[in-house]
Amino acid sequence: SSTVVWFRRDLRVADHPALLAAAERAQRGLALYVLDPRLLKVAGRPRVEFMFRCLRSLDSRLGGRLMVVSGDPVEVVPSVARSVGAASVHVSADAGPYGRERDAAVAEKVELVRVGSPYAVAPGRVLKPDGTPYRVFTPFYRAWQEHGWREPADTDESTVEWIEPDRSEELPAGEPLPDVAALWERFRDERLPDYARDRDRPDLDGTSRLSPYLRWGVLHPRTLLADLGGDEGSKTFRSELAWRDFYADVLWHQPESARRNYDQKFDRMELDADRERFEAWCAGRTGYPFVDAGMRQLLAEGWMHNRMRMVVASFLVKDLHLPWWWGARHFMKHLVDGDLASNQHGWQWAAGTGTDAAPYFRVFNPVTQGEKFDPNGDYVRKYVPELRGIPGKAVHQPRDPIVDHAHERQVALARYGAIKN
Ligand code: FAD
Repeated sequence: SSTVVWFRRDLRVADHPALLAAAERAQRGLALYVLDPRLLKVAGRPRVEFMFRCLRSLDSRLGGRLMVVSGDPVEVVPSVARSVGAASVHVSADAGPYGRERDAAVAEKVELVRVGSPYAVAPGRVLKPDGTPYRVFTPFYRAWQEHGWREPADTDESTVEWIEPDRSEELPAGEPLPDVAALWERFRDERLPDYARDRDRPDLDGTSRLSPYLRWGVLHPRTLLADLGGDEGSKTFRSELAWRDFYADVLWHQPESARRNYDQKFDRMELDADRERFEAWCAGRTGYPFVDAGMRQLLAEGWMHNRMRMVVASFLVKDLHLPWWWGARHFMKHLVDGDLASNQHGWQWAAGTGTDAAPYFRVFNPVTQGEKFDPNGDYVRKYVPELRGIPGKAVHQPRDPIVDHAHERQVALARYGAIKN
């Protein structure tokens, strides 16, 4: 008997419960990835290139036996299953709104066996004692730890006996992925001890930079959790992984929060729609060097440090008064780790419209943020070459700013105040 293993956000063979289930169910499996035009359309070049790197690595782990097909998965998956005589398709469950709808449509045509998820605890599992979902992180975090997670699943490329596909689209050539286990081990040994202290400093290489691998499932968070201890660095890192689970849980219970304010009283908020200011922000040309450095890191690397994501998001929302979803869309296009749950809710946090919203009167000052978190100005000089001649923290002073922060702060406070009262 045979089955299909349909890979999506789980582009790995280690710690992969769906592979175990597939091997228990059938003698042989076909490894499938579907290039879905609906998802590719919204992804920018860095995201797509990273995805191909992940696919090439997976394919080479599988001895070149990954079948890659373009098209609508609702048509492609059942037809591939039929072509190899498979009665079932095994997947890791997808918790996002589009993925859930797509999977429901596939499941009408072929038996879809959903095993595991991209999270330590699958969305929807951690509930308040009264059965309702958590709306605030800290109590969720406590309940999440009490709930606990499974031990890593012992799987590798030989868990399933793979079928040689009779056709496959060719993956574009390019750089292979680095060894992710080695990346994690280096971070764990060298950076984790100081993570609680250094994680807020974009000028230091203090975070793991594993978000793209977690996003594409090259790594499962449980693999990392199993490796953490009781020290400060481990505790802080564990809580960051819990934020990822929390936002997925929020999206699971309230899928519309990807598109609109979680706290709907902000629907009445007065917003601007200045395209020119938006373009300046996207290009890293606001005249606030710390903001511009963040935006240029995004364009150059497809990744941005968390402190910078908070600073540039605050600037878009509270200095430019633009809709958070404009910024969220730009991020999703460029981030290699672009993830609907973490991104939209990270944006809503900055806009004060989400869960655990930052108090509306806390408006990040882009100059003092820079002086505090990039004290020598090294981060700015790295990404804003025209300022390389300015030494030390003087580099954070605005140059031809598109808006005056002190003034815009008052405008923001008045608009938020009108909603709050
Ligand atoms: P580390 O500090 O090493 O953290 C380890 C892992 O924990 C990360 O890889 C990530 O999976 C998770 N994590 C850390 N912080 C958060 C957080 N605040 N929320 C959710 N998960 C977290 N993260 C994404 O993965 N994709 C996104 O699209 C995304 N968009 C964001 C947008 C905004 C406006 C903000 C403020 C944050 C966003 N984040 C997003 C969260 C965070 O910025 C990144 O996860 C982090 O910068 C990734 O770098 P790292 O792997 O070095 O993180």
